[in-house]
Amino acid sequence: MIKFETELITSGRDKQYTHGAVNPIIQRTSSVVFNSIQQKKQAIKNYNTTDTLFYGRYGTITHFSLRQSMTELENGVGCMLYPCGTAAITHAILSFIKPGDHILMTGSAYEPTQKFCRHVLKKMNVHTTWFDPLIGSDIYNFIQHNTRLVLLESPGSITMEVQNIPDIVKTVREKKSDIIILLDNTWSAGVFFKALDVGVDISLQSGTKYITGHSDAMIGTAVSNARCWDQLQEQSYLMGQMVDADTAYMASRGLRTLYVRLKQHEENGLHVAHWLAKHPAVERVNHPALATCKGHEYFIRDFSGSSGLFSFILKKRLNKLQLSSFIDNLKYFKLAYSWGGFESLILVNQVEELRYIRPAGTLDFTGTLIRVHIGLEHPDDLINDLSDGFNRINL
Ligand SMILES: *Cc1c(COP(=O)(O)O)cnc(C)c1O
Repeated sequence: MIKFETELITSGRDKQYTHGAVNPIIQRTSSVVFNSIQQKKQAIKNYNTTDTLFYGRYGTITHFSLRQSMTELENGVGCMLYPCGTAAITHAILSFIKPGDHILMTGSAYEPTQKFCRHVLKKMNVHTTWFDPLIGSDIYNFIQHNTRLVLLESPGSITMEVQNIPDIVKTVREKKSDIIILLDNTWSAGVFFKALDVGVDISLQSGTKYITGHSDAMIGTAVSNARCWDQLQEQSYLMGQMVDADTAYMASRGLRTLYVRLKQHEENGLHVAHWLAKHPAVERVNHPALATCKGHEYFIRDFSGSSGLFSFILKKRLNKLQLSSFIDNLKYFKLAYSWGGFESLILVNQVEELRYIRPAGTLDFTGTLIRVHIGLEHPDDLINDLSDGFNRINL
């Protein structure tokens, strides 16, 4: 078997996708022109099984190439594409549930994913129970007769708990084998954690983050195993899920440098995380590769590396003035949502802002939480930037 780095370079670049160029061609189309009734018939027959052109919504050569790459990257049997990560998550859920079903969700899931349950699924009489991300095999007790789906996210958004996914998967399968297990695998980019290899059914990603990698495009991906593929594909198509060819191309292009970018995000991230861990104003660093992060033992066991996103908690709770002075004057860390681009970003949360998206009792801190995405700048400059920020407020 070829090495993963090589696979990233070669995947989705067969002649049928590149037409002789290095990269897959960008094929923009709505209509596909058939040569004959017979050819049209054939295309209808094959539209959801092969790389046959049928109609723009079902993908063009550009999409087929990206789907092929993602399927290889995450060891699945197929990949669906969506206009953003949120669409990938919500449509993967919608593809498998019906009124009256129950779903289980980690309390560390991305906030819009949780809101989707509260504001949309609830209207459809689908109820959600949230659980502590560190639940492990105790998830057994949360499974009801009508539980249809479990959504995991590891490490969790903002607080970065690493989940014992193999244990959760094993327990769920033992109790009720027809439950669909989804993982939001955005943090690892599908590179550092191979979700399908440990029995997850569908690995979801916001390709907006590391896959495109330049903060200039939005896309979502869902790579499925064999048992869920047909249903995921059919239902997502019926809900009109697709992405334009130009964006699909951007994602394919991002894949070629994904590994080297990630390795540098990892190195820079660890550098800054270790510096923060020694800073007197910092209570704890939630970086999966550091022992202070919850679930660190599962990270060591299950992941092959870390990306550039983590958080840290200050000993003190900063007031509004201190927050502004610290954050507004940073040179390299920009205040923004999202992450996964080449640049460093920062976000701040007070504990009460997280309370309603976390199961009771899982927030064991009072100081201000700061989340950083460590970009590809030199880490010394990033450390100086943060250090100046701490100095401005005498921390
Ligand atoms: C950003 C993000 C999403 C949503 O992705 P979009 O492409 O912005 O819709 C989902 N999950 C995680 C973990 C994210 O960070």
